[in-house]
Amino acid sequence: MAARVPLRSAVAALPTYVPGERGTSGGAVFKLSSNENPFPPLPGVLAAIADAAADVNRYPDLQATELVAALADLHGLSPDHLVVGNGSDAVLGHILAAVVEPGDEVVFGWRSFEFYPIAVAIAGGVSVRVPLSTGRDPGRLDLAAMADAVTERTRVVLVCTPNNPTGPAVRGVELADFLRRVPSDVLVVLDEAYVEFVRDPEAADAMAALAARANVVVLRTLSKAHGLAGLRVGYALARPRLAAGFRAVATPFGVSDVAQRAAVASLRMRDAVLERVDRLVTERGRVVAALQDQGWTLPPPEANFVWLDLGPHTMARAEELRTVGVLARPFAGEGIRVSIGEREANDLFLGAAAGWR
Ligand SMILES: *Cc1c(COP(=O)(O)O)cnc(C)c1O
Repeated sequence: MAARVPLRSAVAALPTYVPGERGTSGGAVFKLSSNENPFPPLPGVLAAIADAAADVNRYPDLQATELVAALADLHGLSPDHLVVGNGSDAVLGHILAAVVEPGDEVVFGWRSFEFYPIAVAIAGGVSVRVPLSTGRDPGRLDLAAMADAVTERTRVVLVCTPNNPTGPAVRGVELADFLRRVPSDVLVVLDEAYVEFVRDPEAADAMAALAARANVVVLRTLSKAHGLAGLRVGYALARPRLAAGFRAVATPFGVSDVAQRAAVASLRMRDAVLERVDRLVTERGRVVAALQDQGWTLPPPEANFVWLDLGPHTMARAEELRTVGVLARPFAGEGIRVSIGEREANDLFLGAAAGWR
């Protein structure tokens, strides 16, 4: 038999990314499975998209000059700190491609964002998963244990705050202790995909950490608060030497012109965006209070979703939710993540959850 082209063993072993279920077209199915923003695009963003549509015969601006300038302005940093990409997933891929040598260890909490082990394997690294806290304050990243897990083989630590899918944000004191313990040649990626939704006054200040430490990178996205998940715009903030390395490995023209212009428009309407975030945070408070009234205890949700630890009942509960028209994101044997969506959808979820007590 003719020899076959081998796939890298890491590729053959890759876990599959499970997207939130999309639901069928037509019918009242609410999609609370991907932490999307339930609000439609702002009118100004739609106009920018329509304008950009006329130019799709052209390549986009390779450097995404306007978008980078807008982000640099927002964060009070020079543009050479910015790396934009086709969603923060892609940016994370660039970061790992730029620093991970084959066999290097990448430490992260678990359960956390499901793309992490996939991204690490693609980069040729080895995932080191550190269990989340249990007991009286469950579902938090255990930063002390994550620091303990750092060895001379560790190249990167991924810190998801708030943690997807459990919800709590890392506290400032925890992060300070952690950063003091992690060697200066180990990269610490603070993934703040949901930062706009955080209301915990003790939450860590990633921007201050970035200013203080040369080994810190902050990862952000326009998919969640800005509601541009379908356009794929994410970015990293890093010291210029690192940022240049991350850009060097990126796919050329990774952010389309449509996405660049929509993102710039959305950043200009930041007040309207944050007003919508406030409404979702208020709705999150209503959902949490209702769940607590039902007798649930849950890790404090600081993002746009709640987490119910349902253990062995998880898949059956997800199925029940589907029958009432709500798609959520179950993690078999662990629990279910339910995004904060339209009030009607959240009420359907609350009605089902009441029956599970
Ligand atoms: C949604 C999410 C991202 C990625 O978002 P993009 O759409 O790729 O920008 C990154 N990290 C976490 C923790 C997320 O939940």
